Amino acid sequence: MTASEMDTTDYLGIAEALSYAASHGIIVSQAKNSAIGTNLSHAPMTYRPTPLHRPCYHHAIDITNALNTVVYRIAHNHTYLRESLAETASADAEFTGRLLALLDNAPTKPSVELGIFRYDYFVHEQSNKKELRMVEMNCIAASFGCLSTKTSEMHRFLSTHPTCNFNINTNDLPQNDATTALTRTFSVAHKEYLKLHNISENRSTGIAMIVQPGERNAYDQDILRSAVWESAKILMIRVTLEEINQYGVLEDGHLVLRLPSMGYPVLITISYYRAGYTPDDYPSEKQWMARGLIESSLAAKCPSAAVQLVGTKKIQQILDKPGEIERFVDRAEDAAAIRATFAAQYSLSTADGGDEVAKMGIERSGDFVLKPQREGGGNNIYSQEMKEALQTMTAEERSAYVLMERIRPVVVKGTLLRDGRSFVVDIVSEFGVYGVHVITAGKDVENGSAGTLLRSKSASQDDGGVAAGVAVLDSPVLVD
Ligand code: ADP
Ligand code: MG
Repeated sequence: MTASEMDTTDYLGIAEALSYAASHGIIVSQAKNSAIGTNLSHAPMTYRPTPLHRPCYHHAIDITNALNTVVYRIAHNHTYLRESLAETASADAEFTGRLLALLDNAPTKPSVELGIFRYDYFVHEQSNKKELRMVEMNCIAASFGCLSTKTSEMHRFLSTHPTCNFNINTNDLPQNDATTALTRTFSVAHKEYLKLHNISENRSTGIAMIVQPGERNAYDQDILRSAVWESAKILMIRVTLEEINQYGVLEDGHLVLRLPSMGYPVLITISYYRAGYTPDDYPSEKQWMARGLIESSLAAKCPSAAVQLVGTKKIQQILDKPGEIERFVDRAEDAAAIRATFAAQYSLSTADGGDEVAKMGIERSGDFVLKPQREGGGNNIYSQEMKEALQTMTAEERSAYVLMERIRPVVVKGTLLRDGRSFVVDIVSEFGVYGVHVITAGKDVENGSAGTLLRSKSASQDDGGVAAGVAVLDSPVLVD
């Protein structure tokens, strides 16, 4: 973006938006390791809500329950996970391989399971037809639910404000209840745990929110922590994997944290990860030991290693194979509705015809995206760089990637607000639906959707999310 693209016509409305964000906690730290409450800035966001095709919005929400069940079923099929990920794990031994090895730690005693997911989509446009296309399933650390709720509220406020000429009917702004839905889900899972394991009311209990040291996005997380306390008086404690390694023990199978800062032991009902999705989160054996301890405890793992592995790009590629997603969905119409969102994905393993696939990627580099087994944005390879990567990688290195058909999202004009400045650019928007799933001793207690996220980025950027500094928070205005 250049200064010439700055939006100067709507300065009163933009000032209102910036002020609303700052005064309602739509904020991020400006740098890692900032002291709490210092170095704050409004989160990057759009000025206006962005049009989203109404049928696509409903399509995404409607398939969430079935997708939650797919994740659950695959996570419990360790043979399937091991076989599907064998080659990936040997090519990516230090991360996928180590997560796969953690499957052996799972306790045999029944407990509570908690899934919090986000299924991300683009609206793909071809010959004037708009269709939903899944970008990925996030099975760990699906973030921004709380800031997203606030962004929806901000856009609703601005839509009625005289300084903003949005010309939007507020009936077309869908309610986004991510914060309350996530909060409720934590409360349900926590209480299920206390009930199932007969935990005495006299014990101090809580939820561990496992975070990256020095996290910039701590305020999105802390809206959730305070909401869980306010609504259910459940303590959610920020801890790092290193602290779990140092202060965590197992007592009768329960995970207990003896943090010096707390002064008393806390029985952890849920280990909720907002970290642990990238190899960078495991700089030493300490973090892996913490992960192993959590896996072998009865605590509800959000997610377990198994669930995290379902979120790998490799499993998502396999699910695209004919008949594959259908194995994990009860009703044929649900399977068809999920499959309708799939973009083509291909294995690059030699045994699956990877040489031919690589050739196709090299010849038509604009039509595909090369994806490694990584999360967090900024890892995919595109265009010329993809071509070169496919030409130079060994067959083994190549098998740790999948090749995905490039989605062509709808492009619209948008005003991005970043560091107090506005920019008018062509944008594309990625729509996410949160899924929540609580299971006690193998039985569904809750299975549903829990609000949405819209993130927009300049159409000229290939990759990247909000945390990666590319996308900004947005909310949808539904259009027919
Ligand atoms: P990550 O786990 O890093 O978030 P994603 O699969 O979500 O991985 O890819 C990161 C970003 O790359 C997405 O947010 C999207 O902008 C872009 N992207 C991913 N897959 C595709 C695709 N098939 N076509 C176009 N863009 C894509
Ligand atoms: Mg993503």
